[in-house]
Amino acid sequence: MRIAVCIKQVPDVEERLEIADDGKWLDENEMKFVINESDQYALEEGLALAEKTGGEVVVLSLGPDRVQDALRKALALGASRAVHLADDAFDGGDAHATARALAAAIGREEFDLVLTGAQSDDAGYGSTGSMVAGMLGWPHAWLVMGFEVEDGGGSAKVTREMESGMNELFRVALPAVIEVQAGLNHPRYASLKGIMQAKRKPIDRPAPADLGLTGEDVGAAGSRLEILDVAFPESGAGAQLIEGDPAVAARTLIEKLRTEARVL
Ligand SMILES: Cc1cc2nc3c(=O)[nH]c(=O)nc-3n(C[C@H](O)[C@H](O)[C@H](O)COP(=O)(O)OP(=O)(O)OC[C@H]3O[C@@H](n4cnc5c(N)ncnc54)[C@H](O)[C@@H]3O)c2cc1C
Repeated sequence: MRIAVCIKQVPDVEERLEIADDGKWLDENEMKFVINESDQYALEEGLALAEKTGGEVVVLSLGPDRVQDALRKALALGASRAVHLADDAFDGGDAHATARALAAAIGREEFDLVLTGAQSDDAGYGSTGSMVAGMLGWPHAWLVMGFEVEDGGGSAKVTREMESGMNELFRVALPAVIEVQAGLNHPRYASLKGIMQAKRKPIDRPAPADLGLTGEDVGAAGSRLEILDVAFPESGAGAQLIEGDPAVAARTLIEKLRTEARVL
């Protein structure tokens, strides 16, 4: 199977985040970046499936030059080539503009399956994969916890995580966009051989015109959302620390939940 995997490079959540001077995004100076968590599971799913079916994985990412590190890592893990949407025109796009660029890059080739993460760890709109599916005219499934190709690649059985601990199982016709939830599998580590091979694997850097788009379709110009402000929530007052013997502290806590918080 020919599989496209969309990976986003996001700030390392272990990092202390600072807000940029214009108050509209994070200050990326000195920040460490990693591959978005659920995208790592999407990539593993794609690699395992390509191995099983004798296919290939192509990784796509939209973002500035630093994104090369994420793509090289995916190539070291086993993807055969990468597409980096790095042109300045792609910058500052909302999820719709980002999906438009990704869908156009995917639509240039013939893929049997597109895998994305369910949600990014920074902006977290949880909508890019669904919009890519809409733009390609393909079915999609979000929050996928299980995925099994059947019918010689004609369809797949999908398990979705629902509310209240329930799962939904359904069959989807391929090609489709599958938006993977973290925890679906066990992502592999890159081998030394893989890291060496990745240096020679191609990374294509198409401009909007190569995708049949203009600068007005993508990035900030093609966006319908405007970020007005990014801020940390104000810390509230009134936190109480109940110290002392655990049994007494538990009784005090229950009393406070009953009489002060009135939640019991
Ligand atoms: C007005 C505006 C300005 C912005 N400016 C910046 C900025 O300066 N810098 C910045 O880093 N972000 C910026 N963003 C956020 C960025 O554009 C979003 O990350 C993008 O819209 C995708 O949405 P999301 O991250 O919520 O992804 P989600 O919809 O939560 O992601 C779901 C999945 O889609 C795929 N995906 C998402 N984004 C990408 C990508 N770029 N490449 C490959 N796959 C992807 C991944 O598989 C991911 O797991 C801006 C957003 C807006 C609205």
